[in-house]
Amino acid sequence: MLRNENEIACYLDYDYIFSGVGTSASLLLLELHRRNLLSNLKILFIDPDDKTRNDKTFCFWAHEDESIHKALSEIITYSWNTIEIDHSDKRSIDPFKYHHVSSLDLYSKVQELINHYNWTRVIAPVDLVSSDDLGPFLTVDGKQIRARKIFDSRTPKFEEAATNEVHLFQSFVGWEIETSNQIENKEAVRLMDFNVEQSNSTQFMYLLPFSKNRFLVEFTRFGSKMIEETEACQLLEKYIGNDFGEYKILSTERGCIPMSNCKIANAHHENVILLGARNYRIKPSTGYAFKNMYNHALEIAESIEKNNIKTIKAEKKKTSFSKSRFAFYDALLLLILKEKPEAGKKIFSELFKKANTFKVLEFLDEKSKITDEIALFSKLPWGPFLWALYLKVSKSISFRPLILFLFSILLSMLGRESMLQSVVGYGFLLVGLITVGIPHGAVDHLIEIGKWESRKVPIFIVKYLALAALMGICWYFLADGALVIFLLYSAWHFGQADGELWKLNRPTSLLWGGFLLVYILGTHTVETNVILKSIGATEFAFSLPYWIVFPWLIWSLIYQKSAFTITILWLTVATQLPLLLAFGLYFIGQHSVTSWKHISSALNQSNRSIWLHSLPFQLGAWLILALFIFLWPTAGNYDFGALNKFGVFFIFISCISFPHVITMNMLYGAKTKGN
Ligand SMILES: Cc1cc2nc3c(=O)[nH]c(=O)nc-3n(C[C@H](O)[C@H](O)[C@H](O)COP(=O)(O)OP(=O)(O)OC[C@H]3O[C@@H](n4cnc5c(N)ncnc54)[C@H](O)[C@@H]3O)c2cc1C
Repeated sequence: MLRNENEIACYLDYDYIFSGVGTSASLLLLELHRRNLLSNLKILFIDPDDKTRNDKTFCFWAHEDESIHKALSEIITYSWNTIEIDHSDKRSIDPFKYHHVSSLDLYSKVQELINHYNWTRVIAPVDLVSSDDLGPFLTVDGKQIRARKIFDSRTPKFEEAATNEVHLFQSFVGWEIETSNQIENKEAVRLMDFNVEQSNSTQFMYLLPFSKNRFLVEFTRFGSKMIEETEACQLLEKYIGNDFGEYKILSTERGCIPMSNCKIANAHHENVILLGARNYRIKPSTGYAFKNMYNHALEIAESIEKNNIKTIKAEKKKTSFSKSRFAFYDALLLLILKEKPEAGKKIFSELFKKANTFKVLEFLDEKSKITDEIALFSKLPWGPFLWALYLKVSKSISFRPLILFLFSILLSMLGRESMLQSVVGYGFLLVGLITVGIPHGAVDHLIEIGKWESRKVPIFIVKYLALAALMGICWYFLADGALVIFLLYSAWHFGQADGELWKLNRPTSLLWGGFLLVYILGTHTVETNVILKSIGATEFAFSLPYWIVFPWLIWSLIYQKSAFTITILWLTVATQLPLLLAFGLYFIGQHSVTSWKHISSALNQSNRSIWLHSLPFQLGAWLILALFIFLWPTAGNYDFGALNKFGVFFIFISCISFPHVITMNMLYGAKTKGN
């Protein structure tokens, strides 16, 4: 139901609610205050933490003219203009300075504003942030509270890593120490000192000198496992002992920053604005977020200032990390840090040692030019990056269609129906049929029963054979009807697997499945009709041109489904191959491999174990094929003299796949319900 503004206003409790009052919320509030956008507003702050502890040390680099420097100058406690990496020479970062802000100073500023404006602060967790036809609301202790806008910065939950995504931890334990002696030449920030054990991670010490005898020393790990407190303390003791001698611990800091390019489990609602880590503001490869969050605060404040508070639209929804080239670099580095963590030390030290420090910091701010980036990369060890690139490409869903595309081109270059084309093409199909084509349809018992149970298997087999026989009877008495049924359930089945892979909805999947079958057959009418004739079905009266698939190509480009686009390209090339090769490439290379992946993920078992469990049924399938070829009855509606082996194979495939399609439909159905 649509409500008007006045009606909604009656239900409003506040103008703004800040759900979570941490760093991003504080930065936004300060910016709104700086622009005088808070007068006469009723604001509520809710966080389970009262924010009276100095729980974080924030650092960021900026030059003097940057607005972050001006806006936060009151709470910048230290600034340095030199950094040191891995005991290298000290490097000037001019015109940048590395600035330090204590979280407590930031939180105290917020508290001052709350007191000044007499706003309300509630110390409790928010249970839910949502919206309905009256606008956004949240619930605390079961009570619903409404506001014109909710700024939600609650700590986010990341979704499980999908293929090509990485979730790591930047965990650290730090001590602020006071040394008994004054230490000379300790004025530079040690961003990364790798002179510590690497322990199958990327680990370093981080050091901020506050004075000649006061330092923050932090042991940091980038890795899949978080650092244990006791291990970190031992390493800190050793490191400080070696470098500083006697010391006293003044305070401790520990924390963990996600280094992740996984999706965040966010629900998006009109007038609920996501902030901070919840809005993908942490740079995945470094864990730096402070400046990003400040820049986001600027964007929000600017749009509020420009639009008048009543009419401002909710900002564009961010549903993943950026897809820019920087996200790509981050993804490569995350892959290296996960799979080859020992390479991290070399990469980071070389980056800072060999390249211009200002350019590196600009690059980390995602403000560099592509030419500078090429110059930077040329100074890095190439091996791990090429390896990560291979890993990323080979894990991408576009990789398999790309291989099929190249393979189809190779086959067509070998010459239509040439000896070489037949050996390479049919050789591939035979190997594919044995390794995945038949096996992917021979694990239906595992999908239906869940696990191997000797007691239940005979009933399963009888049911399975009965369904296959039903299809055989159809073929025997009514070939045209059987053909239509076969095409329909095949379209459904192929569309289902491809649709699941490319995230298509059900109608589009079915449409695609149907089109695909007709396309492969219709671009090979002569060969198709030989088979149709041999099985007594009506022949195709039309022939399709290869370009008829192009509307799908345009569709896939519009929706940015690259794997789908490449599949269409190789299907177009495959129209130049014999029918059996074209269909076989699709059936093995696309359909069977895709279905196998869906099956192994649903069964949660290794490929080897599933393949071994499929063995008895694979043998059964080969046996039935032999029976078909040798014993197909010599009576009925057929001209059996003309029934060639391809025709028999066609009928065999249709019979054996009928129960398989039903089982796979159950699997995909269960998946949809689970989601
Ligand atoms: C120890 C530490 C040091 C860091 N140092 C730097 C640095 O030097 N430079 C840099 O760029 N980045 C740094 N980061 C990374 C990043 O800047 C911080 O993680 C930053 O705090 C993220 O801001 P945020 O607002 O998203 O989260 P937070 O500041 O963590 O705020 C989230 C708030 O939500 C609250 N909350 C949680 N659940 C609920 C709930 N159910 N209801 C209501 N409120 C809830 C929390 O109590 C918290 O106050 C650091 C991170 C850590 C952990």
